[in-house]
Amino acid sequence: MNNRGSGRPPEYDVVVVGAGPVGSAAAFACVEYGLSTLCIEEHGTIGYPVQCAGLLSQNAFRECGVSGKSVLNEVSGAEVVTGSGNRLLIDAGVTKAFVVDRGILDREMAERAAMAGAEFRLKTAVYRMEGGRLFTRGIDGHGEVSYKVLIAADGPRSTIARLRGMKRAGFYLGGVQAEVRCESDPRFVGVYPDASPEFFAWRIPIDRGRARIGLAGMTRVKERFSSFSQQFGGACLDFVLGTIPIGVMPVTYGDRVMYAGDAGGFAKPTSGGGVYTGIRTARHAAATADSCIENRAFDDTTLSRYEQLWKQDIGTDLERGLMMFRMRQTLGPVETDRLVRALSDPDILGVIRQYGDMDRPARVVKELLKKPALYRQSGMLLRCGIRMLTGYNG
Ligand SMILES: Cc1cc2nc3c(=O)[nH]c(=O)nc-3n(C[C@H](O)[C@H](O)[C@H](O)COP(=O)(O)OP(=O)(O)OC[C@H]3O[C@@H](n4cnc5c(N)ncnc54)[C@H](O)[C@@H]3O)c2cc1C
Repeated sequence: MNNRGSGRPPEYDVVVVGAGPVGSAAAFACVEYGLSTLCIEEHGTIGYPVQCAGLLSQNAFRECGVSGKSVLNEVSGAEVVTGSGNRLLIDAGVTKAFVVDRGILDREMAERAAMAGAEFRLKTAVYRMEGGRLFTRGIDGHGEVSYKVLIAADGPRSTIARLRGMKRAGFYLGGVQAEVRCESDPRFVGVYPDASPEFFAWRIPIDRGRARIGLAGMTRVKERFSSFSQQFGGACLDFVLGTIPIGVMPVTYGDRVMYAGDAGGFAKPTSGGGVYTGIRTARHAAATADSCIENRAFDDTTLSRYEQLWKQDIGTDLERGLMMFRMRQTLGPVETDRLVRALSDPDILGVIRQYGDMDRPARVVKELLKKPALYRQSGMLLRCGIRMLTGYNG
């Protein structure tokens, strides 16, 4: 950091706004490159309030670079339950994902970045930016800080994207979740497509007697959640409301700023999970910041490397995921039921077990489309495709 005591605002190579998992991952990667890095967070405690179901694939968890202390449960598969009671169990037989305490996880990620040398300024919110300077207000009153490169990791409602007038994600889902006491097999996540026609509802077991039940959608979210939650009875022990951005913003960089994680709309359109994809974007943003600083080049052409990097890495999966999200909007309960029955074919289940990857759905979709049991549903899928392309949903 430069300019200490000169009266001018302190300047950092990189300022990261937001200390969620993406901001902390970006801050850690930046200090690993040897860049002076400040992370600004509006809340006084990192990781809270929790706005997450805490289901992370093995890969996503590995990307976080933390110990196992946030892990509450391990799951090996999922059970899809349709409104008419059809069930499809997909069991990999080995741990596929972890259920974590996001508060603990986020804090450990921030601690790792701080230990590596990143500075953190908590209870401080950015409210204005101008000519490479950020204006903040918080526990120490009003402040100013300068940056060479800014990484906006300030979540789905990104203040930075708003201040810069950036075009945002195509869709926003409202998410509601409660932790309840309910008996369920802790090895399997429950997925309930008909409880939320625009997305799905979930049950994520914490242990044999507790689960997080939740739902995300675009309309009547709270109403649908109260009717979905009735089957679980039990007292609510914790309640979460949040927003999930679906669809990456059209341009993810500009004017020395890169948008990472939820700020850029990087949540997976198939599941709403944003930790894995977000951390991947954090890594690419840090690599780009490093090359900008090394070459003393901060123009948009140099910054565009960020978009090339994330597109090479997760672009295809996000694109195919968005197609599946759009297709999902055209599936009614009858079609979901037929699809669930088609997916119960042993051949299909084998493909899902072999190629299924929560974070990278492109491969399994490609393999599934080769399967005869799905051809039989091709008329229905084609009709859904036409509805998707024409916007007709009658
Ligand atoms: C109900 C629900 C369930 C979910 N379940 C899962 C799941 O199971 N698995 C999964 O992978 N993902 C899940 N997600 C998505 C996941 O929570 C997000 O994708 C992830 O938190 C994104 O991380 P982030 O760091 O980009 O943003 P955030 O975690 O939102 O962090 C942004 C940070 O920026 C700070 N900030 C915002 N504005 C300012 C400002 N002006 N100044 C300073 N600081 C600021 C915020 O306080 C916050 O700490 C879920 C989301 C919801 C809503």
